[in-house]
Parts: sequence; structure tokens; C-alpha cells
Amino acid sequence: MTLKTNWADMVNPTVRDIPPSGIRRFFDLVTEVKGVISLGVGEPDFVTPWHIREACLYSLEKGYTMYTSNHGMLELREEIARDIHNTYKVNYNPRNEILITTGVSEGLDLAMRTLLCRGDEVLIPEPSYVSYAPCATLAGGKPVYLKTSVENGFQLTADLVEKAITPRTKVLLLSYPNNPTGATIDRKHLLEIAEIAVARNLIVVSDEIYDKLTYVGEHTCVSSLPGMRERTILLNGFSKAYAMTGWRAGYAAGNSDFISAMTKIHQYTMLCAPITAQIAALEALRNGRSEMRKMIAQFNRRRRLVMDALREIGLPCFEPRGAFYAFPEISSAGLTSDEFAKQLLKEEKVLVVPGNAFGEQGEGFVRCAYAASEADLNEAFRRIGSFIKRRLGRRKVLTFTIGKPEQIPEQTREGLVVGSSQ
Ligand code: PLP
Repeated sequence: MTLKTNWADMVNPTVRDIPPSGIRRFFDLVTEVKGVISLGVGEPDFVTPWHIREACLYSLEKGYTMYTSNHGMLELREEIARDIHNTYKVNYNPRNEILITTGVSEGLDLAMRTLLCRGDEVLIPEPSYVSYAPCATLAGGKPVYLKTSVENGFQLTADLVEKAITPRTKVLLLSYPNNPTGATIDRKHLLEIAEIAVARNLIVVSDEIYDKLTYVGEHTCVSSLPGMRERTILLNGFSKAYAMTGWRAGYAAGNSDFISAMTKIHQYTMLCAPITAQIAALEALRNGRSEMRKMIAQFNRRRRLVMDALREIGLPCFEPRGAFYAFPEISSAGLTSDEFAKQLLKEEKVLVVPGNAFGEQGEGFVRCAYAASEADLNEAFRRIGSFIKRRLGRRKVLTFTIGKPEQIPEQTREGLVVGSSQ
């Protein structure tokens, strides 16, 4: 007699109890409906600039198809160190203080697994990116949410941090510009938070993947603040600013002992980031600035379009200053964020992500990614306007075209259906 395996019972309870991403749920619905405009995807609609793809093609032609050092190519680490120095005046030794990862996603997982012992608490501002709490939990840690609010521009305050600290608090996760709110954080607030991190011996894991997508004011890199370089793990990557989501290239920068501990996990689980992605990242850093600037200018233009559209529709929205998300309040429609997203999809074929996918504090909001063409944004907000009008009984017919788009990088992809992630 053969025993039948019940696979559900085989799953580690920690994994079993983690809910799947609230974003995914909605993407699965979309595949079943035709003619949907998606404001759901958290990735640039641009194709990676041609010179980056070309550098990668050349490298394949030349036979660069092997493993690299576990740490990643030294040339790339040197270029990253130069970039951080030039932008933020912080120095990292490329030989032992930088690790190339398969995106910020891997960097985050490595940082959590390297830092956390069972029960260690991780402070996570909420609303927040969907991966933080699951990564902390999978590493044995305990997520503790710091509830930021629209009144504060979704900025974390020193007070929120201070009040949440217990003897088990080990890590503070920072993530500005923020997904899903588009909030940035003032230098003043960051300095106050840094003081607490120093005084209370917290390790800061700072996900700065949207640093270059800052439209108002200047981004402050956490490691550049007094006393913070030595207690910060800086995570960044190429997915957003260089339109390179599918390549899977990122990095972690920090204390050399810690980076070498992270490298042990990376070495046994990933070995190294893909060489093609590393070569592409190197080209992006060396020659990608002008294409990147064009894409950022385009996002900024769309940001203004979306804000104008939301104003006209009458949905209150705090002004996003970074990333490519708007986070309007939808409670006036008399629906929960889940109901709003589901009904908008059903009635108007527009996909937005319910705010509660980013934690309880996101309830009453939806995330609209403006990483879509102006034509799609115009049509999407016309449809959202009709949806709201039906609910609020407004009469105005809305159009939001704001002139001719600037010259932008190539936008078409052909052939493969590749699905999407965050
Ligand atoms: N961090 C944030 C805040 C994100 O929004 C995302 C993707 O949406 C990631 C990290 C994942 O980045 P990567 O593609 O480098 O793994």
C-alpha cells in the first residue's frame, strides 16, 4: 500500500500562514477581462534603453555566460560605489562593503535572514511595500507596524518610532520614496529618526529603490546622516530608474562584516546575480543617465496629469513626491478599497490596487501606478470619473489631455506574454 502525501500538511506553518500578495489577487482577475487599462503594475512601462540591451547582447556574443564572483563583478561594485559617492557623498569600499543581489528583493531577504533571531522585532512603516512583513516573518522576526497617515504626508515620525520600541526591537525598515503612497521624507524628520536609531541601537534597513524618482525636493540617503552609515544596510537596484525590472539586478551596501555574512547566504542560495544582468547594470551606471532622465521627466509629467485628473474628479489625494504611485482616498464613494477596486474593474475595466493590500492603514485608499502611457492615463481617469460620477451623482464630463508628450524612450514590446509581478 502506498501512502498518499497530503502536500498541504507538508508546508511549513510559517509559510502556510503568510497571505499571498494582495496585488497578485487583482492581476489574476485582469487576465480574465478584455480591454482593461492597468494602473496596477509597479513597474515602468518603458523597455530598458537600447544601449543597455545592446551591451548585454555584445556580452553574450563575446561569451560572457559564466558565474561571476559571489559578491558580483568588481567593476560593477566599483561603479556603484562611485555612484553612491557622487550622489550622496557616502563612501563604500567596493571590495567588501557592497554585494550585488538579484534585485532589492533578494537584498531584503538576505538582510532579514542575516539580522533576525526568532522574535526580534522589525519596525515597518505602514502603508508599505508588500514584501517587508513577509520577509521579516519568514526570517523568524516579528513585524511591528508604524501607522503613518495622510495628515502627516505618510511620513514616518520619530515619535512613532520611539513609541514602538521594546527590548526586542532590532530593525527599523525605511522606504522612501514610498510604495504605495508616493511619499518622500523630509531631511528634518529623517534626522530625528536617525537620532533615535543611534540612541536605541537600531539597525536601519533602507530600501531606496525609488531614490532617483524624486520629483519634489531632494532625496536624502539614510547612510549620509550623522552616525547612520555604520548602522544602515542600504538597498538599491536598477529595476525602477533604469526600467530593468526583468533583469533582476540590485545591491546591498553596508558594514563589511555584515555584508560578508549576507554573502554567505547569497553564496549558498543564489551563488551570484546573473552575469547578463550585471553587465547591463554596469552599462546603465556608465552611460544610462540621459535616458533615465527622460523617463523620470515623463513620470513627473504623468504625475501632474494624474493629480489634475483626481482633483477634477473630486477624489482627494495627497501629492506624491516620488516613485510612480498616486494614493487617492476613495471612501467618499461609499465603498471599501477592495470593493472600489473590484467594481471599478468590473464596471469600467480599470485596474487599481486596493490600499489594504499594503496594510490596514491603506484601507480607504487605492494605489494608481502612473507607469502607463498618457493615452492610457487619460482614458483610465475618464473612466474613473464616470465611475465616481455614478456614485456621487456628478455631472461633469472629464478630459485631461495635457499637450503633446515629450520624446520618450521606446515603449513597445512584441511577442511574449510575460505576466507581471509587483
Ligand atoms: N522595493 C520596493 C519599495 C518596490 O516597490 C519593489 C518593487 O515593486 C521592490 C523593492 C523590488 O525591487 P527589485 O525589482 O529590485 O527586486
